[in-house]
Amino acid sequence: MGRLDAGWHGCNNGEVKRLKFAGTPISPEEWRNESVFFKKEEFDLKYAWDTGYAIAKFLEGLKAGKILGVKCNRCERILVPPRMFCEKCFRKVDEWVTLRDTGTVNTFSVSYVNNDASRREKPLVVAVIEIHGASPGMGILHVLGEVEPSRVRVGMQVKAVWKPENERVGAITDIAYFKPIEVM
Ligand SMILES: [Zn+2]
Repeated sequence: MGRLDAGWHGCNNGEVKRLKFAGTPISPEEWRNESVFFKKEEFDLKYAWDTGYAIAKFLEGLKAGKILGVKCNRCERILVPPRMFCEKCFRKVDEWVTLRDTGTVNTFSVSYVNNDASRREKPLVVAVIEIHGASPGMGILHVLGEVEPSRVRVGMQVKAVWKPENERVGAITDIAYFKPIEVM
């Protein structure tokens, strides 16, 4: 209702009392007509995000058309997206490895809404893709293309479709989407 002129207060003895707050409530009409004091402000906020060393190198790799991971020589896992420390062994990772640009669909979702909650005519298939050559369970989130949403399956083999080199900027979107390897 948008009116905050009263509230409820629970007491120690289990009683609930209705409380009146001081002030004058605004009616929905007054709100809609803007007949009360309004102030509108538009913000133009800019921000930058520090990727850190591991993700910076991963993004540079994408720009060059490569998916990079890291290897921990103690547990022998290959991790992607890369990180500087193995979270299992609690030690610094040992080396960088170039992985294949293919993978297996680990999980997916068919989305009919955009990220601003507006409805999509054509659904978007979002998937976690386990990258081939990395350890099981190591994957990246991306979108699938060149496939009917109803035909997507967990376990499907997919390959990265890269943007042309001159359009790559060092972002996960340098991979336009992943498409099925097998003929659908
Ligand atoms: Zn490890």
